[in-house]
Amino acid sequence: MDNIVIFGAPGSGKGTYSAALVDKFGYNHISTGDVLREEIKAGTELGMIAERYIENGQLIPDDLIIDMLASVYDTMRDGPGVIFDGFPRTIVQAKALKEMLRERGERISVTLNLIVSEDILMERLLNRAKIEGRADDNEVTIRKRFNVYYTQTHPLIEWFRKEGVLSEFTFRGDKDKMINEIIDKVASI
Ligand code: AMP
Repeated sequence: MDNIVIFGAPGSGKGTYSAALVDKFGYNHISTGDVLREEIKAGTELGMIAERYIENGQLIPDDLIIDMLASVYDTMRDGPGVIFDGFPRTIVQAKALKEMLRERGERISVTLNLIVSEDILMERLLNRAKIEGRADDNEVTIRKRFNVYYTQTHPLIEWFRKEGVLSEFTFRGDKDKMINEIIDKVASI
């Protein structure tokens, strides 16, 4: 089974490229952000806790995310693979993912790091705010999310590199070209 991590700053296109991979390879897709937004809508206990963090641009505590992730993953084990989108976001989460997979005889197949300049990220997120109306897509919260990304999540790139699973893709203005590069990489694992 393929276990693909899609990784990048807010607005880097994780959702878009995940959708292309789901289309091409029939993978299941876990977006921790989407799961949390569903929990908020459903008014669950996790949703109520998550809401405060999300609106502030902060990360939800690791233990809550890790428990949730394992139970969602276990519903997807009979497919060709899983895309982890928005997880892991901290070193603690990355180690927990590795352990969770190891316990199931699995491993991270590849991490796709999406590299996009900050100007483009901001433009995309402000655009998305107009279309989707996400509570955390306003300029102040976006700045906080960038800051959280650079301090807590970006250091993971070195961790993935050391694990020997890092693959990097730089956006140079052509989304379709990037999709093809990513598909080629995943086809080769
Ligand atoms: P996303 O949709 O991936 O941009 O996530 C939106 C928000 O959900 C983030 O800013 C965090 O508050 C929260 N979130 C999503 N995934 C995680 C995670 N792996 N760890 C902690 N918080 C998360």
